[in-house]
Amino acid sequence: MKIAIYPGSFDPLTNGHVDIIKRGSRLFDKLFIVLSNNTSKQTLFTLEERINLAKQAVAKLGNVEVIESENKLTVDIAKSMNASVILRGLRAATDFEYEFTMAMTNSKLNSEIETVFLTADNEHMYLSSSLIKEIAKFSGDISNFVPKCVADALRKKFGD
Ligand code: ADP
Repeated sequence: MKIAIYPGSFDPLTNGHVDIIKRGSRLFDKLFIVLSNNTSKQTLFTLEERINLAKQAVAKLGNVEVIESENKLTVDIAKSMNASVILRGLRAATDFEYEFTMAMTNSKLNSEIETVFLTADNEHMYLSSSLIKEIAKFSGDISNFVPKCVADALRKKFGD
C-alpha cells in the first residue's frame, strides 16, 4: 500500500491544488491532504474553514482524506500516517528553490521519506492562492480558478 501526504496551507484550495490531488490519487493508494496552521503565514481562512473547503472539494475522490496536522514536522506527520511520500506541486521555476530546499531538508531529517513533485499543468501554472485572494478582494470573477465551494466562501468573506 503506497501512502502519500500532500501538505500545504491551502488558503484557499485552488483548481491547481485539486489537479495535483486528482493526479496524486491515481499514483497512490491513499493520499492525505494535510492542512497546517503555518506559523509564518497569516491566513485569510481559519484552519477549520480551510479543512471544510478542502473536504467539500475532494469529497468525490474515494482514496483522498483531509486531515489537520498536529504541531509536528512534515516528516513526522508522514511517518505517523505510514506514508513514504510527501507530494508537492511545482509551478514555474520560482517554486523550485524553496521546494528543493524543503525536499533536501526533509530527506536529511528522514531519509526513508521521499518528496515527489508533480508539475502543474499548463492551465494551472499561474494559479496561486494569493492571486485568487487578490482578485476576490476586488470582486473579480474567480469562478474559473477555484472549486465552487471556495468561490462561494471567498465571496462571503469579502462581503459580496
Ligand atoms: P505551502 O504554504 O506549504 O507552500 P500551498 O497551499 O501554497 O502550501 O501549496 C501547497 C503545494 O501545492 C505546494 O507544493 C505548491 O507548490 C503547490 N501548488 C500551489 N499552487 C499550485 C498550482 N496552481 N499548480 C500546482 N501546484 C500548486
